[in-house]
Amino acid sequence: MDNPEPIETFFSPAVRELAPYEPPDWEGLARRAGVEVDQLLRLDANENPYPLSPRAVAAVARFDGYSFYPDYKALEQAVARYAGVSPENVVLGNGGDEIIDLAIRLFVPHGGAAIVCPPAFSMYSVSLAALERQAVAVPRCDDWAPDLAAIEAAVAREGARLLFVTSPGNPDGQPVPREAIRRLLALPLVVLVDEAYVEFGGESAAPLLAEHPNLVVLRTFSKWAGMAGLRLGYALASPAVTAALHRLRLPYNVNAAAAVAALATLQEPDHALSTVARIVAERERLAAALGGLPGVRVVPGQANFVLCTLDGRSGRQVAGALAERGVLVRSFGQEAAAGPSLAGAIRVTVGRPEQNDAFLDALCSVLGVQGPAVRLDDPPPRSGRVHRQTRETDVVVTLVLDGTGRYDVQTGIAFLDHMLAQVAAHGLLDLTVRARGDLDVDEHHTAEDVAIALGQALDAALGDRRGLVRMGHAYAPLDEALARVVLDLSGRPYAVVDARFDTPRLGTMDSDLVVHFFETLAMHGRLGLHAHVLAGRNGHHCAEALFKALGRALDAASRLDDRRQGIPSTKGVL
Ligand code: PMP
Repeated sequence: MDNPEPIETFFSPAVRELAPYEPPDWEGLARRAGVEVDQLLRLDANENPYPLSPRAVAAVARFDGYSFYPDYKALEQAVARYAGVSPENVVLGNGGDEIIDLAIRLFVPHGGAAIVCPPAFSMYSVSLAALERQAVAVPRCDDWAPDLAAIEAAVAREGARLLFVTSPGNPDGQPVPREAIRRLLALPLVVLVDEAYVEFGGESAAPLLAEHPNLVVLRTFSKWAGMAGLRLGYALASPAVTAALHRLRLPYNVNAAAAVAALATLQEPDHALSTVARIVAERERLAAALGGLPGVRVVPGQANFVLCTLDGRSGRQVAGALAERGVLVRSFGQEAAAGPSLAGAIRVTVGRPEQNDAFLDALCSVLGVQGPAVRLDDPPPRSGRVHRQTRETDVVVTLVLDGTGRYDVQTGIAFLDHMLAQVAAHGLLDLTVRARGDLDVDEHHTAEDVAIALGQALDAALGDRRGLVRMGHAYAPLDEALARVVLDLSGRPYAVVDARFDTPRLGTMDSDLVVHFFETLAMHGRLGLHAHVLAGRNGHHCAEALFKALGRALDAASRLDDRRQGIPSTKGVL
C-alpha cells in the first residue's frame, strides 16, 4: 500500500523552512534589458572580471587524469607555500562555502549556536539553518567594526561555539585589524576569519595560527584567481583542526579540474596577482568617480567591490533600474536589517575599466545626474602593490600615485604610521600599508622592510617614468621645526639625509630609524633624495616636518607634464 503521508513530512524541519538559492534569471534579465545574456554586465557577485591565467587554462586542457579520483597532495603543498603555513595546516574545500559548512559541522553541536555579525555574507546563516544550528546575530558597529564587547557578552550568554568574522568584510570591504582578532581569539570559542577578499587588502590572520588553535582562516580561489566557476576554497587551521576537517569532508570534495587549475595558478601567482593590482587600481578609480557624484557616498573598502549609499534612494530600486539597463549590482533587503543600514546602498563589483565606465554611465542616467568629475576613461591611476615576506616581517603596500591622500597604515609602530599618514596626505597618494614584524626584537626590521616595500611600490607606480616632471622639492615647517626634501625621480638611487634628534626615541620608534627609513626608501624607490632638518627642537616636530616635505616633494616630482613627452633625461634613459 502507498505511504499515505505527504513526502514533505519526511523532510527534516530545517529544510522545510529553507528558501532555495535562486540563481539570477539571466534570460529574463537580458530580455528586459534588450541585450543578449552575454552582454549583461555582471557586477553583482564579486567575481573576477579577468579570465583564468593562460597557464591554468592550458594545464586543465592538457591534464589526462580526469578518469581517476583526484589527489590533493601537490596542491596542499602549493597552497601552504602560498599562504605561508605548513601543508598540515591546509584543508581544501569545494569553494569557501564548503569550508563554512564543514566548520559548522565540526564546531557547533546540533541545536547549538554560532555568532554572525550582520551585515554579513549570507552563507553563514544559510548553512547554520540547513544544519539545524542557531545563528546568534551581533550587529556590527556603525563604522562596520565587529562589536567586540557585544560579542563577548553574547558568548557568555549563548554559549556559542563558533564566530564568523569577515576581513575584508562583505559587503563593506572593511578589514578587521589583527588586534581585534586577537581579542576575539581569547574568547572560549572558535573564530573563523573569512578572508575571501584578503588578496585585495587587509592583513591576514594566518600568522596567528601558531599561537591560537581556536583560529580557522577561510580563503578562496574564486576572487583573486578568477576561479569562481571552478570552485576551490581552503581552510588554514591548526593540525588538530585540519585532521578533524579531513575526517568530516567527503573524500573527493574538490574536483580534479579545479585542483589542476589552482596548482598552475600557484606556479605563476604573479599573473593572477597582477589582475588583483589592476582591480585594486580600478577600485580606487571607481570609488573616486562614485564619490564625486552628488548624493553618493562611498564606503572606502579593501576588497574587489565598492559599497556606496545613495542619499534618499532605495538601493533595491536603483539596482532594479540598473538591471533594466543590463547592469547588475547587489542591493540589500531585510537580511541586512541589523547593523549599519544598507537600505539605500548598492554594492558594485569592480570590473574592467570599460565595464566600470558603462556602470557609471548607467548609474548617472538612473540617478539623473551629470557624469562624474573623475572620468573612468581617464588614464588609469599609476599604482603599485608590493607584498614582501621575510622570516622577520610580512609587509603589503598598495600605493596609488594619482590618489586623493587617503591612507590606511598599520605597521605595528604607531609613530611610523603617523609619519606615513603625512606622506600620503601631503603627497596626495592613496596608501595602504599592512606590516607585521618582529617588534619583540625591536622596530628595525619592520621599519626597514616597510621602507623597502614602499620604495618598490613607488618604483612600480612610476613605471617607465615617462613624462614625469621628475624633480621636485618642498619645505615643510611645523612650529619651530623646518625640513626640506629635494627629490629627483631619476632612477639613480642616492640619499643624503641629515636629521639628528636629541632623544633616542620618537614615540614608539628609535630616532635613528628616521634616517634609515629615508635612505632605504631612496634605494628601493630608485630616487635621488636630499632630506634635511634645517631647524627645530622637538624631535616629533622635526620628523613630522621631514615626512610632510617628502610627501609634498613627491607630489611635485611625480606629476606628469604634457610638455615632457618621453623619458625626462637628455640621455634618453633613466
Ligand atoms: N566568504 C565571503 C565573504 C564571500 O563573499 C564568498 C563568496 N561570495 C565566499 C566566502 C565563498 O566563496 P566561494 O564559495 O566561491 O569560495
